[in-house]
Amino acid sequence: MSETSYNPFTNAQSQFDKVAEIIGLDEATRKLLRQPMREYHFLIPVQMDDGSTQVFQGFRIQHNDARGPAKGGIRFHPQETADTVRALSMWMTWKCAVVDIPLGGGKGGVICDPRNMTEREQERLCRGWVRQVARNVGPDSDVPAPDVMTNGKHMLWMLDEFEAIHGGRFPGFITGKPVGMGGSLGRTEATGYGVIYTLREALIAKGIPIADTTASFQGFGNVSQYAGELYTQLGGKTIAISCWDNTDKKSFTVRSENGLDIGKLMSITDMYGSISKDKARDLGYEILDGDAWLVQDVDILLPSALENQITINNVNSISKQVKIIVEGANGPTTPDADEVLKERGIFLIPDYLANAGGVTCSYFEQVQSNANYFWEKEEVLEKLDAKMTAAFHAVYDTAQKHNLYMRDAAYVISINRVAQAVKMRGWI
Ligand code: GLU
Repeated sequence: MSETSYNPFTNAQSQFDKVAEIIGLDEATRKLLRQPMREYHFLIPVQMDDGSTQVFQGFRIQHNDARGPAKGGIRFHPQETADTVRALSMWMTWKCAVVDIPLGGGKGGVICDPRNMTEREQERLCRGWVRQVARNVGPDSDVPAPDVMTNGKHMLWMLDEFEAIHGGRFPGFITGKPVGMGGSLGRTEATGYGVIYTLREALIAKGIPIADTTASFQGFGNVSQYAGELYTQLGGKTIAISCWDNTDKKSFTVRSENGLDIGKLMSITDMYGSISKDKARDLGYEILDGDAWLVQDVDILLPSALENQITINNVNSISKQVKIIVEGANGPTTPDADEVLKERGIFLIPDYLANAGGVTCSYFEQVQSNANYFWEKEEVLEKLDAKMTAAFHAVYDTAQKHNLYMRDAAYVISINRVAQAVKMRGWI
């Protein structure tokens, strides 16, 4: 999904192969876990508002469901590919395993650009997606959720279509639903807050007060907005944030040496995470090119947009001041760049650990839905914090004990848990 030729699925497989070798995983389990178990590729004809019909390509890929129903979001993106969805479905398996929730991994997508579609067209696309997979997904088999450029509104249209097809009410079919319609309080904030819970723990472990730190974010969608909010609340100073400009069709970076006001930026950002450049200028912020977020002299980098953003071509432009990288996005670092980060001794909080807050809260949504009793926001966030903190320390301890890079330590835990489930079920 970038100008480079990196393939996220090849990256995901090479991360897996490396750790499968370290832990001496048997051949059959390796074969089973290095690719998705099931894939659905389909076409979705959608009637557009002008009366024409457009045909979109859709996907749902279930990587593994040994630990529970497949779980993972649906992305709407013009550069979506089958391999991207494959990689993301695989990372969902490891993500659910690392936070130890009883779910497997899946992912969905549609090649489309919702920024250029009306609301009614998006609704028809959502309903069309469900019509194609209604018999292959469901509360007990595969539970979708929001992801890049999808939100609670899309989830509810999808739920409504699923319920119309199956005749009944099935709130467990999908998570990320709006609050009051089966959604959980805190779900919107969950991924971003989770990112910062893990960062907070890393800083404590390293003895660095968060109030002494500065940060730069890539992306200003759901993840960065709430990560930025909590990071600021805890005393951190955000120097730079990059985002996509849908008018110029390229990204730019907003910067302020004195720190950006996240609340103000949120108020001038559209639903797809694009900040208004003019309004940012009016706030007195500098406007720099799209790559500037990466080269800032800050302590913490938070790539929280898309995959393949830190590559061998730009990894060496990361400032010497950077001590920690927290991957808010899925797969933002390519394996070759990862080697450089490791050599430089930068502490990495890997993607599927850092951004597991979203799916953890989705699991809480399922629990609340099943009991038909909904918790206060404070209770949700407290439980989320506990899960993320425990997962961080399990990975950190494994890394310390076996002298492993944090990404490899996370893989050791996740692969072992999934391999054990596969064996206990008697599949291998
Ligand atoms: N799309 C989010 C992720 O990548 C959340 C998935 C979910 O809630 O199922 O983790």
